[in-house]
Amino acid sequence: RAKSSGRGRAERFDDRYAAEASARLRLDAELRHALANDELICVYHPEIDLAGGGLYALEALVRWQHPSRGLLSPDDFVPHAETVGLIGILFEQVLDQVLTAQDKWETEFGWRPTVAVNVSPRQLTDSRLVKVVLAALEAHDAPASALILEVTETALVDDSVMTGTLAELRRHGVAVAVDDFGTGYSSVSRLADRHWDALKIDRSFVSGITEDPAREGVVHAMIALAHALQLRAIAEGVEDEPTLAKLRELGCDAAQGYLYTRPVDAAEISKMIIRSPQWNPATITTAA
Ligand code: C2E
Ligand code: MG
Ligand code: MG
Ligand code: MG
Repeated sequence: RAKSSGRGRAERFDDRYAAEASARLRLDAELRHALANDELICVYHPEIDLAGGGLYALEALVRWQHPSRGLLSPDDFVPHAETVGLIGILFEQVLDQVLTAQDKWETEFGWRPTVAVNVSPRQLTDSRLVKVVLAALEAHDAPASALILEVTETALVDDSVMTGTLAELRRHGVAVAVDDFGTGYSSVSRLADRHWDALKIDRSFVSGITEDPAREGVVHAMIALAHALQLRAIAEGVEDEPTLAKLRELGCDAAQGYLYTRPVDAAEISKMIIRSPQWNPATITTAA
């Protein structure tokens, strides 16, 4: 094997290339089938307001209920959907599920939890995004203020089309959050350009703040930066009580993580809302 000829290597390379190409083709066909047959579902992950204990928002996270491979995570298919131009359809399906779930929660509980939806970078340079969002809101008679779009920080290049899209969405009342903050390359001037409502501090910075003073200092500085720019600071990936206590001490506005729950489906969120009357904005107003 070690002495294999160049020709042997080339054959193995061809085989691997062929195997990868056929796997991609299969994924492609299966994903198209999934989109046509409602195999994509949303789970929801609460973001808790640290000052009042209310629900800040629910983040919608897509899953693929694959007929033979089980429940697939977004990392298994979202990048592919982006590459082959299916991300727009995926987004529309997610948005529709989110608004349908909100309709149901509103009927059940008399209030509409805000939901954050992830958008892929390339959707922001597509003029259809604003139309799709506004049409979906209108179809559900839903207020734009109940929607947050999350844009990963690695996508925040200085692009005038992208900036225009964000500005238009915000003009209509849709909030925008910078996701995975700390992992990208955004300049302070980009963050200061007033197209944002919140910074979500990436899990890689949040985990370990109770053990490492340097990390704590970095997260503290991130929260201060958010506040200086008049943005909310949200911590991702909070897994234990000491981390939560530390974030509170540092003045973080909201937290999300396995400490509270794993992401769950819409029916499970209904049960949580029943168990968590403090999530209801009306309760918070009366308590204050
Ligand atoms: P994200 O938007 O940064 O979402 C947070 C991810 O971290 C989620 O993984 C969530 O389950 C996970 N997470 C939250 N709290 C904790 C924690 O305490 N510990 C740990 N270990 N993990 C935690 P998930 O659902 O696998 O999503 C991964 C990424 O896929 C998301 O990262 C987002 O970028 C992307 N994604 C998810 N849904 C969609 C979608 O509908 N559209 C697009 N374009 N991307 C999506
Ligand atoms: Mg997100
Ligand atoms: Mg992300
Ligand atoms: Mg994130």
